[in-house]
Amino acid sequence: MSLQALRGRELKPPLRSVRRQATPSSINQSSQVTSIAGAQSRPTLRFPVNPETRAFYRQFYPGTSSIEWNDWRWQMRTRIRGLDDLARIFALCADERSAVERHEGALPVGITPYYASLMGLDDPHEALRRTHIMTGGEYVRSVGEADDPLGEDHDTVVPGLVHRYPDRVLFLTTGTCSTYCRYCTRARVVGNPGGEYQFSVKQWEKALAYLEVHTEVRDVLLSGGDPLTIGDDKLDWLLTRLRAMKHIEFLRIGTKIPVVLPQRITKDFAKMLKKHHPLWMSIHVTHPAELTDEVTESTARLADAGIPLGSQTVLLKDINDDPKVMVPLMQGLLKRRVKPYYLYQCDPIRGSAHFRTNVEKGLEIISALRGHTTGYATPMFCIDAPGGGGKIQLAPDPVVGRDGDDLLLRNFEGKVYRYPDPGGSLGRTTG
Ligand code: SF4
Repeated sequence: MSLQALRGRELKPPLRSVRRQATPSSINQSSQVTSIAGAQSRPTLRFPVNPETRAFYRQFYPGTSSIEWNDWRWQMRTRIRGLDDLARIFALCADERSAVERHEGALPVGITPYYASLMGLDDPHEALRRTHIMTGGEYVRSVGEADDPLGEDHDTVVPGLVHRYPDRVLFLTTGTCSTYCRYCTRARVVGNPGGEYQFSVKQWEKALAYLEVHTEVRDVLLSGGDPLTIGDDKLDWLLTRLRAMKHIEFLRIGTKIPVVLPQRITKDFAKMLKKHHPLWMSIHVTHPAELTDEVTESTARLADAGIPLGSQTVLLKDINDDPKVMVPLMQGLLKRRVKPYYLYQCDPIRGSAHFRTNVEKGLEIISALRGHTTGYATPMFCIDAPGGGGKIQLAPDPVVGRDGDDLLLRNFEGKVYRYPDPGGSLGRTTG
């Protein structure tokens, strides 16, 4: 059955019959999942364009219509991919220029024109630019760094499927992202389709076969790469296959697309996702400069489709390691119906020292959020333990000590309060 025919049926469920019809033969077995291929939703003229972005695209993409600019496939095709593209738009410093010239292999340069429009074109220290244009720091190897610090390769059960915890798996669906973050935990595998990891429907089938028999798996996190770079039909097919497994209770998608390529969240796409509930989404955000009118629209479309939205943010030195940056970021997310979920200490991937802060910095930021704004705006601060230890949460310790039966606690203003806790031992010094 053709994908077109399959889509026609989906307009009128029953979903069960759609699931039955969604056979692997519907999809080209050999096709790489990189993906902007296949029939897609029509672009819409009604996607907002913020004023700074409009000025940017008139300057650097003259003659581009708003239909093209708002077409996510155009944004993908027109990504800034190398030195010539960068030099046309950015005033590159010598460090950036030589780092780009030296680069080869995975984690290439990749920036959507939309996301570039948010960056400082003349300032190499501007936050978003620092996260996406490589510098010489990437080539410095520091103590404790590794290519696979989280030990994901060790827990890979079939290519692209990481099964570390008993009841959940990480499904690396594609090696493609719309933009490549220089601090990426999966720098070893993303953006290099000819490299170690080949993502294809054939490979997906191996992962699906594993999941069919591993009925202890309740929860699948689709990540990559960015799963939302996959075309609507292919992603629909994959979600349908996963949802057809009765033991899989819900799905999650980890993505940066709603922030770096918000135009990808077409109304048709949101409608397609809505068929696969319960479906949750974690959106990777870095800085309040990302919270544009376009992102207000992309997150609204997802939230209106009933998808619970959470955020994940990597703590980055001189980029967002300041309460003056992080507080408005978290509050801005809440306004867009995105619950701040994780703040991560930057993983020690190779060449990441220039991005990493001390751990105290994360605790300082959590302290600046707690009590000073709603608890909904406070994410969990975590270190993903190197070697595969999983996420370990850190929080400022409010326990000051104990006075007899009273536990002494420090509040967000630094004042100490008593709580009657007869018989308790918390706060009691030993030895
Ligand atoms: S979007 Fe995610 S997977 Fe892609 S480069 Fe950035 S951090 Fe890595």
